Amino acid sequence: MTKNFWQHKTLSEMTGDEWEQLCDGCAKCCLHKIEDEETGLIFGTNVVCQYLDEQNCQCRDYAHRSVLVPECITLNPDNLEQVYFMPSTCSYRLLAEGKSLPDWHPLLTGNKESVHESGNSIRGKVICELEADDLMYHLTGEWD
Ligand code: SF4
Ligand code: SF4
Repeated sequence: MTKNFWQHKTLSEMTGDEWEQLCDGCAKCCLHKIEDEETGLIFGTNVVCQYLDEQNCQCRDYAHRSVLVPECITLNPDNLEQVYFMPSTCSYRLLAEGKSLPDWHPLLTGNKESVHESGNSIRGKVICELEADDLMYHLTGEWD
């Protein structure tokens, strides 16, 4: 892996390992969102996919995620236009927008827990979709 690869390579130039390392582990992309059909605005919720391990913020079946949940976006260098459906703190989106990684990113701290300790993951803030009411009761505001 190239040192500080995210500063020297575009997303398309990254190796598979570098691509995976770029994910901060926040799991915000596993939250349900709702689109207002009239305005087109997207709203976030605190309801998370049933396949997410809420404690470690990892998918329980990462290899089969797109089969288990067809709307689960599997980002890769060939579908970077999808990066704008990711939250504003998502590492892939930040780099695609020409921004820097935040100082709490595990690649900068050397500590995978820093995303959680800084309050930038979903840990402790969500409810599983199997236990949630209608998503309308779980809105958290406009998705950015
Ligand atoms: S939102 Fe982005 S950085 Fe966070 S877990 Fe999803 S892909 Fe990784
Ligand atoms: S299938 Fe896995 S990666 Fe996809 S939304 Fe659910 S928990 Fe997240």
